[in-house]
Amino acid sequence: MTTHSPTAPVTGLPMATVVLKPKRARPFFGRHPWVLDSAVLKVDGQPADGDVVDLATHDGNFVARGLWNSQSRLRVRLYAFNASIKLDADLWRGRIAAAVALRTVLGLDDRTAAVRLINSEGDDLSGLIVDRYGDYLAVQVTALAMAERLDTICDALESTVTPKGILLRGAERGLAKLEGLALVDRVVRGSAPSGPIFVHEHGLKFGVDLAEGQKTGYYIDQRDNRQAAARYAQGRRVLDMFCYSGGFAVACAVSGAARSVLAVDSSAKAAALARANADLNGAANVTVDTIDAFEKLDALAAAGERFGMVILDPPKFARSRSSVDDALRAYHRINRVAVGLLEPGGILVTCSCSGSVSREDFLQMLSGVAQRSGRPIQLLECRGAAADHPVSASCLEGEYLKCVIARVA
Ligand code: SAH
Repeated sequence: MTTHSPTAPVTGLPMATVVLKPKRARPFFGRHPWVLDSAVLKVDGQPADGDVVDLATHDGNFVARGLWNSQSRLRVRLYAFNASIKLDADLWRGRIAAAVALRTVLGLDDRTAAVRLINSEGDDLSGLIVDRYGDYLAVQVTALAMAERLDTICDALESTVTPKGILLRGAERGLAKLEGLALVDRVVRGSAPSGPIFVHEHGLKFGVDLAEGQKTGYYIDQRDNRQAAARYAQGRRVLDMFCYSGGFAVACAVSGAARSVLAVDSSAKAAALARANADLNGAANVTVDTIDAFEKLDALAAAGERFGMVILDPPKFARSRSSVDDALRAYHRINRVAVGLLEPGGILVTCSCSGSVSREDFLQMLSGVAQRSGRPIQLLECRGAAADHPVSASCLEGEYLKCVIARVA
């Protein structure tokens, strides 16, 4: 990591000016927070990574203020669009307080729940994700400049939400590398919980492994989609593919009164969590299978099995724009098999968390499945992430989750 000039985080004032190429300023007048290296004409000054910089047009007009990272293609992340705003501790404190206040407005200040308190660009804090699990916070930093301000961020979180502990969880492998981040998972404030945390979700209880679970421990974004899916489950035989800790399976079995649920995940750890969560909620009719989902789907199809509801919530298939076509083929494949497994009038709950696959592309993929399978598909609900995952209209890249509930004739 580059050594940091000690004055920048204190004053919050610019150490250099990043000058844009002609005709490249428009997105930033529209408050888009990411300045790619390809838009930069030159840098006046020698900013260290993490320093505050101003963004200017090629003819010298102020555009925005942000934080510099020479190691990332995303050279500057913008946090203010007014030259009078300093990127200092007061600003971060204010943004964090505003994000926490929004969750109160959303009715999500229940201490026993799992809630996303800070959603990166959606809360004007590009590169910072904070999830609350009961009395503990899990922090994910995806920007070098945020990593350098971790102390300030933790101070603000401690005074705003008074957690028992704050845990740092590493960013996705690829992302960390792209940003030049070298963070290791650790307890940064207070203590870690001694075992799993139990969180409440729409009348159910889930155990979350904060230290080793996927993401920051749990898929909070699917909270309301699990509840929505469960409304269709009554009396049905349900297949929950890519179940992780069993969120959809348990919701369908218990809240939805499904006849039975088969939950599948290739990870033994995930399957163990799903089993434990089914037991915790008294869902005896949930069976968990540790096996590759593609293999399992084919085996179920070959055996002529039928379900009244199939849930597909796979991991990200597209990691970048260039892999969108491959991803759409993979989505097509699993959705096609899932449709084949559904009895007439069955319910398909199909999700995509690939940000680079657009909602429209995903729906077109479903059109293709309807056409190829000869099974009409009625779209009942086109859903996204829960409201504690706000998306900035100036950064639609934050809109990643699609969850479509459909009836298959
Ligand atoms: N539905 C879950 C979240 C699913 S995340 C919830 O509501 O919490 C995606 C899951 O897919 C992960 O648990 C991951 O272990 C699993 N997975 C990834 N590749 C897989 C594969 N090829 N077969 C089965 N499961 C897979």
